[in-house]
Amino acid sequence: MFLDPNCIFCKIVAGEAEASVVYQDKYVTVFMDIRPVVQGHTLVVPNIHSPDLSSLDQAHAQHMFTTALNIAQAIRASELKCEGINLFMADGGAAGQTVFHNHLHIIPRYIGDGFGLRFPVGYGEQPARAELDRTAANIAALMTTHQLNDRD
Ligand code: AMP
Ligand code: ZN
Repeated sequence: MFLDPNCIFCKIVAGEAEASVVYQDKYVTVFMDIRPVVQGHTLVVPNIHSPDLSSLDQAHAQHMFTTALNIAQAIRASELKCEGINLFMADGGAAGQTVFHNHLHIIPRYIGDGFGLRFPVGYGEQPARAELDRTAANIAALMTTHQLNDRD
C-alpha cells in the first residue's frame, strides 16, 4: 500500500493524524470532514495515495462508491438533519480540489441549509442537438477501458 508521508489523508489512513473515523477496511477509510458544510459531512478516501481521478484504480473507485452508499444510508437513518444527500468529488484545483488525495464527499442536505452550486451565466439555454452529438462523439472516441488494477 503506497502512502505519502507528506499527505494529511495518508496520515489519517495510517492512524498517524487525528480524525473522527466512521469506518475503515482494506480499501477505504471514512471520517468526518474537519470543516463540515453541513453537520454529518463525511469523506471516503482510498487507503492508497492517488492524487486525482486519473490515478485512481478501479478497485478503490468501486469500493469508495459502494461504501458511500452504505454511509449515505446510515446518515439517512441517523438523527442528523438529512432530507437529501450530495456525493461530490473534485478532480483538480479548477474543480475545487484542495487536498490532493482522492476523496468522495458525502454531504447531507436539507431545505434551507445554505449550501448550493452556483451556475454560470447562460445556464439553462439548451444547445443544438448537433452540438451535443459532436461533444458526445469527441468524448466517446477518447474512452479507454478502465482496467482492474488492484494494487493493495
Ligand atoms: P476538496 O476541496 O474537495 O479537496 O476537499 C477537501 C476537504 O478536506 C475539505 O472539505 C476540508 O475541510 C477537508 N479536510 C482537510 N483537512 C482535513 C482533516 N485533517 N481532517 C478532515 N477533513 C479535512
Ligand atoms: Zn495521500
